[in-house]
Amino acid sequence: MLGDEEVLKAVQSHIESRGEPLAGPLSAASAITWHSLLKGQIVRSIESRSEEKRLHRGPLDLSGRPVYDVISDYRIPPPRDPAEQRRRILVRRGSIDARLCECGNGGVRCQRCEGEGMIRCEPRRPCGSCRDSTCCLLCGGDGRSALKPAGAQARTPVHAAAAETSDRGQCYECGEPGVACVTCRGRGRVQCTICRGEGSRSCPDCAGDGKVTHKHCAGTGRTVEWTEGIIAQTPRTEEVRLPEPGVLYWARKLADQHAAWTPTTMADNDPLRARVQKDFGSTLKPLLRPHHQEIARRTELEYVRFAKVAVDEHPHRIYYVFPTLGRPTVVRRPSPRRVCQIAGIAALAFLLLALVNRFLA
Ligand SMILES: [Zn+2]
Ligand SMILES: [Zn+2]
Ligand SMILES: [Zn+2]
Ligand SMILES: [Zn+2]
Ligand SMILES: [Zn+2]
Repeated sequence: MLGDEEVLKAVQSHIESRGEPLAGPLSAASAITWHSLLKGQIVRSIESRSEEKRLHRGPLDLSGRPVYDVISDYRIPPPRDPAEQRRRILVRRGSIDARLCECGNGGVRCQRCEGEGMIRCEPRRPCGSCRDSTCCLLCGGDGRSALKPAGAQARTPVHAAAAETSDRGQCYECGEPGVACVTCRGRGRVQCTICRGEGSRSCPDCAGDGKVTHKHCAGTGRTVEWTEGIIAQTPRTEEVRLPEPGVLYWARKLADQHAAWTPTTMADNDPLRARVQKDFGSTLKPLLRPHHQEIARRTELEYVRFAKVAVDEHPHRIYYVFPTLGRPTVVRRPSPRRVCQIAGIAALAFLLLALVNRFLA
């Protein structure tokens, strides 16, 4: 752990190595502030236990599954690695009910055809070609004008005009040429193409079988019902960054780059534990509190304590001193006041440039 003296010595030799001699050795009166950072993650294993009714369609051998009496009493060791996702599937003792399905052989009577295999079908259907007009211009499909002599009708001018159009032919009902729909020949209906006029067709639900697959047993004729117990161990990872984001933003960036962080698990035998607790106590406490149903955890944190030094002779700079595996590292940054100054100068320069531009234009 770095101390004040070591920090001042490091800053002094940093300044001197840059060829900026100081009036005298940096004194302990130089403003040193100490800060701590903590980063990493806590991986917890959270356990959940539940039971549900299960139904399997068909035969099923459950003898290989572990059995429990009371789900909450079932002993299962916590995972060696809390990041591991585990699921244990159990069977409640005495809950297995394997039986033959009431259907007997997996098939049931088809409801649509009532087991007949055939369903009724209209032998004749309305003619599609003349749906919106008259099937016969003369008799309208009822053949009544057939009572008149055919020759006399053919000579009337109305019918002569109609005869000229190609989509009208001889009516089967009244016998008049050039008046009837060519598809149905004046009948208004045509033979059904599905049953070809038979009046019945094969049932589409059972394909003419009269029987369909029984859904409850999926056609197997057997079912197995039981109560299943599920014990799930699910990892939950929590990222830790202290102090909260935004605070010590620059220092954190520099520390990531330059400092040697010390790993800590916050376990009882961890020598760093007391130090970290002292630095972050109240914010750290809720993060380390055991979660509901937590059965295992892995704490992977890293800690660093560094110094910020303000030297009277260089008021426009801040020196960060980070511990490393060897000698401490010193990083120089402009002081916040200096940053404001630079920003001010930049703004002024921009303003001047804008004015000059306007002037020239
Ligand atoms: Zn069945
Ligand atoms: Zn059917
Ligand atoms: Zn039909
Ligand atoms: Zn007709
Ligand atoms: Zn027609």
